[in-house]
Amino acid sequence: MNQQPFTESTFQSYLARHKLMASRCSACGALHLPPRPLCPDCFGDDLHWTEVSGSGKLLAFTVIHIAPTAMIEAGYGRDKPYVVAVVVLDEGPGISAQLLGVDAANPQTIAVGMPLRATFVERGEGEGQRTFLAFQPAD
Ligand SMILES: [Zn+2]
Repeated sequence: MNQQPFTESTFQSYLARHKLMASRCSACGALHLPPRPLCPDCFGDDLHWTEVSGSGKLLAFTVIHIAPTAMIEAGYGRDKPYVVAVVVLDEGPGISAQLLGVDAANPQTIAVGMPLRATFVERGEGEGQRTFLAFQPAD
């Protein structure tokens, strides 16, 4: 059994290895992403890590023009907006992440329901480097 703690930092260490991992409740089978140390459905604490496919559909999105500092450092902002999506994975859970490979300046070209797949983006340098989950059109 995998005893890695069900924390954001373990989730992050899997992302750094380009694995999208969720926690699954052994008692009721519910899948949680990001992972949780306790099942919110049945309050069980017998969980295990499971890798999810990263395939899903676009549920909703928003175009960000006023970027937070980390995204300004990544080159985004008023002149280069970016898209944050809510994605429903094929396995059921939803997660919010940046949507790449779409035209943020023309959001009418982005279709709710479009098939997406997970991808991984490295940002920052040296010690500050971090892997971020993102999505892109599945085609
Ligand atoms: Zn449960």
